[in-house]
Amino acid sequence: LNQRLPVEGSRDEIAHLAETFNAMLARLESSFRKIKQFSGDASHELRTPLTILRGETEVALRWAKEPEEFRKMLESNMEEIDRMGRIIEDLLLLAKSEAGGLPMECKEFSLSDMLQDLYMQGRTLGEPKGIEVLLDMNVAEEIRIRGDELRIRQMLLNLIVNGIKYTPAGEGRLAITLSLEGDNVSVAIADSGIGIPEEHLHHIFDRFYRIDEARNRENGGTGLGLAIVKWIVEAHEGKILVRSTPGKGSTFTVLLPTRGPSRDPRR
Ligand code: ADP
Repeated sequence: LNQRLPVEGSRDEIAHLAETFNAMLARLESSFRKIKQFSGDASHELRTPLTILRGETEVALRWAKEPEEFRKMLESNMEEIDRMGRIIEDLLLLAKSEAGGLPMECKEFSLSDMLQDLYMQGRTLGEPKGIEVLLDMNVAEEIRIRGDELRIRQMLLNLIVNGIKYTPAGEGRLAITLSLEGDNVSVAIADSGIGIPEEHLHHIFDRFYRIDEARNRENGGTGLGLAIVKWIVEAHEGKILVRSTPGKGSTFTVLLPTRGPSRDPRR
């Protein structure tokens, strides 16, 4: 793959052909690199919970005597098993989406109703942490858009869950704001949490990218949430923007065309 056809000195058509061919090779190389990186990352992510499972089981087998000690070990093992389950589910979703094998079911639905629902869910999630959740519908009329309702809900919920997850207990708020911008709807999810340092902003949508591995494990995250968010937004021909100030909070803004994707995302 490292070889290229000579471009200079050939006749025009051949030069053109050679350029096209070289560009194809470069794309192939980049895909191979991504696949290699992806399988490396995926194995690493799955190995960690597996190592913990093995270690704890080994310790229990060797040292535990009381039923209570076994119970503790099983409880902790259960958490790691759940974690592996979540990683595998998210990985499958992303792999299928990339292979184009994930059907999207686009239809018209009420985004206003969905946000009302998500707001109630957000309140339930925020309450134990003392985080106030607000909903601001800047538009008087009901907003209806075309898209895959379940996936759009999942995408917005991921952003809300993150906003709550990365906001310290007892001192926060999370605001969901809906507005209309020409042919697009905009949903902004703004938290008053820990924020994201600038140098990380370009990477947070990458698979398995985390700013703080230790805190992330505590939070039970898989590092795949934002990669899924990005895929869903792009499959709807939308955009996602993020602004953040460390120590102050982050705002994720999703722009979606009200008419839905112009082509069938299944391809
Ligand atoms: P995770 O499962 O780790 O939350 P995500 O893909 O959802 O994975 O997010 C990637 C990383 O981006 C997180 O580990 C976290 O460091 C950072 N991040 C995401 N959302 C926020 C937010 N609202 N505030 C601060 N950091 C965030």
